[in-house]
Amino acid sequence: MPDHVLVKHVPDYIDREITLRGWVYNIRKSGKIWFLIFRDGTNWIQCVVLKNEVSEEVFEMKNTLTQESSIEIRGLVQKAPRQEFGYEILVKDIKIYQIAEEYPIALKEHGIEFLLDNRHLWLRSRKPNAVLKVRAEVENACRDFFNERDFVLVDSPMFTPNAAEGTTTLFETDYFGRKAYLTQSGQLYSEAAIMAFNKTYCFGPCFRAEKSKTRRHLTEFWMIEPEMAFYDIHDNMDLAEEFVSYLVERAVTHCPEELKILERDLSKLEKIIPPFPRITYDEAVDILKKKGLDFEWGNDFGAPHETAISEDFDKPVMIWKWPAETKAFYMKRDPEDERYVLGVDMIAPEGFGEIIGGSQREDDIDKLLARIQKENLPEEIFNWFIDVRRYGSVPHSGFGLGLERTVQWICGSHHIRECIPWPRTMVRLNP
Ligand code: ATP
Ligand code: MG
Ligand code: MG
Ligand code: MG
Repeated sequence: MPDHVLVKHVPDYIDREITLRGWVYNIRKSGKIWFLIFRDGTNWIQCVVLKNEVSEEVFEMKNTLTQESSIEIRGLVQKAPRQEFGYEILVKDIKIYQIAEEYPIALKEHGIEFLLDNRHLWLRSRKPNAVLKVRAEVENACRDFFNERDFVLVDSPMFTPNAAEGTTTLFETDYFGRKAYLTQSGQLYSEAAIMAFNKTYCFGPCFRAEKSKTRRHLTEFWMIEPEMAFYDIHDNMDLAEEFVSYLVERAVTHCPEELKILERDLSKLEKIIPPFPRITYDEAVDILKKKGLDFEWGNDFGAPHETAISEDFDKPVMIWKWPAETKAFYMKRDPEDERYVLGVDMIAPEGFGEIIGGSQREDDIDKLLARIQKENLPEEIFNWFIDVRRYGSVPHSGFGLGLERTVQWICGSHHIRECIPWPRTMVRLNP
């Protein structure tokens, strides 16, 4: 094991001498003393260099060390309650790995395109770093939640022969002379898997050729998709609200420092506890009408509609019972009114948009076949999926939660591209 301490563990070493390894973030000089803000990826800390505590050579490093130079520091850990980090290092010695060239991302404001072109460097800055730490926590929390509740992880394939969520956003690729598509969702596979495992989830990247430029769409994003045998739409919504509150709670309790760096208003997140409001599509349309928004019954909601609806609630709102035409072929018809399907969207508060799409699935083989025929879908390719209704069909439900959308909301990020390490959009494939 290396003999250096990670900055995040510095509080365990008060009054002891330790070695840190990492990078120079910033230097401030004033006469016989200089300050070095140091980072090692786990956290930032202030190091104090006093003329009479170090060699002449080390004291003079204030003139040679550049931002992002890689160094090793030996020093004494001291409490510094009035200081941002709470602790500081009284430096005894510094060794240099490399003096960095002039760093392109200075500690000043840069344009977003410049920062995205330099995403590989920008990741070292405090805010992007904090967002991705929250993402890592939420991602782990997603797995923990389902692993603790008798779900089996069953991964779905990335290459698929068919569309799951509409053909307009398909990425087509050559598969040894045949057409294949990058997966838009693992759901169809999960529906088959629950007949073998009862409750499953899959968690991986999804690909959609999103041509509109919004703040909420990536072309490559991660989705976690639980699927449950013997769950109806209400059981599905119960699980969805429990899951989302769990994720928010984990972020608030495990990432307080990151959320502080991001200046997130925690009072908004602390309200996210079940039950969440549930309204039907028709009730949501009434809200839009009352607010004077232009909207035609039967359409899907766009971002302005979702924002307007979310303004009426301080928790995520679940909109269910949708006109069949707006939703995918696999959703179950509402037995009480065949014009509707038992689909549900969960809309985050504060205008962060849809974070979950889900439904009770059509378990009646004749109704499913009719829908497949009506939508002109290739029946031969869906044969295996129809088998799910041939051999012991049961009521079942599931949903998909977009990881980056959820992280965007929890972090209060302006744009979804900040919530994935290497964003892919219509205009960005690099780095
Ligand atoms: P939207 O209406 O915002 O386009 P959708 O209804 O097409 O989303 P679903 O097919 O319901 O999305 O997928 C489930 C979840 O996946 C969404 O609720 C959202 O959180 C996430 N998601 C969908 N498309 C994208 C995307 N292009 N980028 C990031 N996340 C996405
Ligand atoms: Mg969409
Ligand atoms: Mg939608
Ligand atoms: Mg949806």
